[in-house]
Amino acid sequence: MNALATASALLGVYTQPEAVLVSGSGARVRDAAGREYLDFTSGIAVNALGHGDATVERAIRSALETGLVHTSNLFRTRPAEELAAWLVERSFGDRVFFCNSGAEAVEGTLKFARRWATAVGKPGKTGIVAFTGGFHGRTMGALSATDRPAYQAPFAPLVPGVQIVDAADPGAVRAAIRADRTAGVIVEPIQAEGGVHEVDDGFLRTLRELCDGAGAALIFDEVQTGLGRTGTLGAHEASGVAPDMMALAKPLAGGLPMGAVLLTERVAGAIRPGDHATTFGGGPLVASVALAVCSRLGSPDLLRGVREAGAQVRARADALVRGRAIVEARGRGLLWGFELDRPAAPVVDAARDAGLLICTAGANVVRLLPPLNVPSGELRLGLDILEEVL
Ligand SMILES: *Cc1c(COP(=O)(O)O)cnc(C)c1O
Repeated sequence: MNALATASALLGVYTQPEAVLVSGSGARVRDAAGREYLDFTSGIAVNALGHGDATVERAIRSALETGLVHTSNLFRTRPAEELAAWLVERSFGDRVFFCNSGAEAVEGTLKFARRWATAVGKPGKTGIVAFTGGFHGRTMGALSATDRPAYQAPFAPLVPGVQIVDAADPGAVRAAIRADRTAGVIVEPIQAEGGVHEVDDGFLRTLRELCDGAGAALIFDEVQTGLGRTGTLGAHEASGVAPDMMALAKPLAGGLPMGAVLLTERVAGAIRPGDHATTFGGGPLVASVALAVCSRLGSPDLLRGVREAGAQVRARADALVRGRAIVEARGRGLLWGFELDRPAAPVVDAARDAGLLICTAGANVVRLLPPLNVPSGELRLGLDILEEVL
């Protein structure tokens, strides 16, 4: 089968460039024609340690030596329990539910919020509040909380009870979060897909107060921002606000599919055996790879490196703003959105032609997601290429 025949058998939901990627190492990937690219997409914030990382490869190999790739959750296995303990030790969470993707983690948070509300005996307290510009995934529940009419419209009717509120309208936010009606409020501490917009700390504090007042679960979606991407393990940590639940996924298992929901004991206490489940979630192969990845992502040296790299991007971006190549630079650590005065997609194409892979975050924003261990020389080179392209 030639590459074209293979590609044409795939469902046409993705617009892909012609290059076929065949190998990778660190922040670089190579296509079938032998062209090399600097990869500042990291598989959409998944490959936090770059490609071909020795920690990831060793973890996969040693996991295979046990012979247990999968057991299902009918049985206990050590890696899932150890990974859950690792996450609990380093976060607000007391309990962890493992699943297989970001959308699935979000679905879990929405179900657990409703379960908590019904457990405390409030029928009709089923509402979910989400925000304009937010992105939470493509399954029915997550899509219902995702503010993208074009993604939603072909699949209506969506899950009832989900209200998308303008975060910039304090009156509307206050009116939406109600003791009699609201089970959960979901927010990304930095809206990533939505153009890399930071939510300010005061807003998160307000949500915390409103949720406490209404007995609603505050849910942080850190599927993209979590596990070191912004220079702290959780992007929300800088705000000092702790949620009741948090969704994690993208970088969790070094490129293997895995998601997680972290919960406080308060919410977890409402969940009973059989309330929710997944066949694959937290299997021994993915969980042991995730444990190895998390140990690296949680290391103070790596996190300091991400913050330093963030300062390097900030300095460079400020110069690009002054030189009018970009309108605004938003981001933290190694999650950046450069707002352009023109459509972003042609810039992404031109960057690829020049040897740099980046992606968009909305119509006019190019998004940079280098691996978290990107050497500063390669970060500079990538920014050089982007500047040249702009
Ligand atoms: C990517 C993403 C999701 C969805 O994750 P999938 O693994 O693609 O289902 C949910 N929330 C946020 C914030 C994301 O960036």
